[in-house]
Amino acid sequence: MSEGTGFPSFFEETLRSERGAQEAERVLEGMRGPRAVTLRANALKTDAAHVAEALGAAGIAFERAPFYEDAFILKDAREGDIRALPMYVNGEIYLQSLSSMLPPLALCPRENADILDMAAAPGGKTTQMAALTHGKASVTACEINRIRAEKLKHNLLLQGAGRVSVMVRDARKMEDFFRFDQILLDAPCSGSGTMLLSDTGSYRAFSRALVKNSAVLQLELFKKALSILKAGGEMVYSTCSIFMEEDEAVVKAALKGARAEIVPISLPAMEALPLLTPALEGAVCVRPTPLYEGFFMVRIRKLK
Ligand code: SAM
Repeated sequence: MSEGTGFPSFFEETLRSERGAQEAERVLEGMRGPRAVTLRANALKTDAAHVAEALGAAGIAFERAPFYEDAFILKDAREGDIRALPMYVNGEIYLQSLSSMLPPLALCPRENADILDMAAAPGGKTTQMAALTHGKASVTACEINRIRAEKLKHNLLLQGAGRVSVMVRDARKMEDFFRFDQILLDAPCSGSGTMLLSDTGSYRAFSRALVKNSAVLQLELFKKALSILKAGGEMVYSTCSIFMEEDEAVVKAALKGARAEIVPISLPAMEALPLLTPALEGAVCVRPTPLYEGFFMVRIRKLK
């Protein structure tokens, strides 16, 4: 892709300075759009075999994702086609990007664990963690925005995620007596990894200030997560930004002086994922492609 793609110039300049010309070019290629519609079979209500059968019956062609049996990649379907299906209406499937299915898998949520989803709405990853633990973990889903929290509650109900309690508040202000075995911090971010050239709305709000402000908030949330994580517990920090200011730099700042370490992420079929050259050992940054959004993840263990 040549100079001047239509994205804000700050976006391209940052990308080139952080990633180098060649890798930046591959990222921009992957952001031309459109991106495939993907969904997750909700194991709390159905299974992947049933979803495959129902998609076939509806004449919707699909492929399976290499890293997760519940993930489906649709061919030529639009989101509207999926929303009209009975299995969407009754919560047996959830429209979710492939990349956003990765952080819960990286966390490996455990049955009977106390889990915090620190920035949870609309609940794609909360419901996925409930499904991965067969509804047996106790999940707390925190969300600051009241309207988004209502959407979260609706999704929890629809998806049959019973053992989830919703906290509508600023996660930075959670009382210090809270302790969790596992925490997912899917942080608010600039969305630099999700932008598509074919969709101007996907980057209308993008700005230098958004990146800067996001990084400040992310660090505050990260530090809070470390303080309420049990010693020996694990957390995953993820963003849908591919900018180091919101990713690697936040992780390094949060870990400075903390009794915590990075634990390398291991996912099934990881070699099949399009990854950017790692800039922080053990972390993973997914490169945007026609299938995947750009996404950053790191797994942290708090030392005993
Ligand atoms: N994990 C969600 C999912 O998979 O559906 C997406 C989360 S989205 C990236 C980040 C969310 O964090 C937004 O809903 C935003 O309103 C919320 N948020 C922002 N600041 C927050 C704060 N200080 N405390 C709690 N939630 C916050």
